[in-house]
Amino acid sequence: MGIKILKDKGYEVDVNPQDKMLDQKQLISYLKKKSYDVVLTLLTDKIDRKVFQAAPTVRMFANYATGFDNIDITEAKKLGITVTNAPAISTSEAVAEHTIAMILAMFTRINEGDRFIRKGKYKGWSAMNLIGSNFAGKTLGLIGAGRIGEKVAFYAKNLGMKIVYTDMKPSDQINKEYNATFFPTPEEVLRYADVVSLHVPLLESTRHLINETRLKLMKPTSFLVNTSRGPVVDEKALEKALKNKVIAGAALDVFEFEPKVVSGLLKLNNTILTPHIASASMEARIEMVQVATGNIIDFLEGRTPKNILTS
Ligand code: NAD
Repeated sequence: MGIKILKDKGYEVDVNPQDKMLDQKQLISYLKKKSYDVVLTLLTDKIDRKVFQAAPTVRMFANYATGFDNIDITEAKKLGITVTNAPAISTSEAVAEHTIAMILAMFTRINEGDRFIRKGKYKGWSAMNLIGSNFAGKTLGLIGAGRIGEKVAFYAKNLGMKIVYTDMKPSDQINKEYNATFFPTPEEVLRYADVVSLHVPLLESTRHLINETRLKLMKPTSFLVNTSRGPVVDEKALEKALKNKVIAGAALDVFEFEPKVVSGLLKLNNTILTPHIASASMEARIEMVQVATGNIIDFLEGRTPKNILTS
């Protein structure tokens, strides 16, 4: 669809012929084959000084993702290279819906129940088998309440949950619409919440934001959900906290060493793991194409792209 939009506009488009991720060496070798003007990148493409130097004709990198931690924005700015991301309303909805699905699955133990049956352990009804807890009336703690965090608050409020959150500053809209309580630090959110959901970008300031010390602040009955970026959580510390019952469970869509998963997490029953698919709804993918190609066309036609990160 994106290729057609660009070709219909008269642009020449080359596509990675292999349907798989390129490592940086392979990417550089492709980029050296021609004098490209624009490159559409995926979140798995590491774009830094090496790539900028190897492809000096490229004046724009359009990331097909909301996050842009894979691109060295500071270096791009220095070199006058334009970088855009592709946030889309359907993406925020998809990630928020995936987050809510994970939260509900943690409280209701759906995944554990499914595994229990498949392992042949279901021998008859028992009143105390796989006891979960109601999520209505529980407190959701958001760390990061931007586009996705706000949507999660919307769904959670409508499911009867209370909302506490932290961000760089409070939002009058979130406070009012979701009757939410703002805390200036993550510590307070971690102490109060029954489930903590992460929605910050990956920055130096958010790397290992959830570490051993902060995990210990959480209630032993609480859950952690991460659909943001893997390195926001110290995965080894999380594994330890889950094993030692410091917290009750974790649901992860993103991983510190993606696509590798710390092996201990795979063995634990109190984890739900999905392969970075929180935004993988058809609606989101289509809108992301429209946003990313819109940015490229704006750039090539001399307008400032809507989602410019390097202005
Ligand atoms: P956003 O920029 O709208 O919101 C991020 C919020 O985090 C902002 O309000 C910002 O002020 C806040 N923030 C930044 N640093 C913080 C800190 N140290 N403490 C507290 N708050 C802080 O971004 P978004 O669209 O909501 O997306 C959030 C992240 O979700 C993206 O950066 C991306 O990494 C991730 N994401 C993941 C998927 C997926 O498929 N799993 C899909 C889309 C986005």
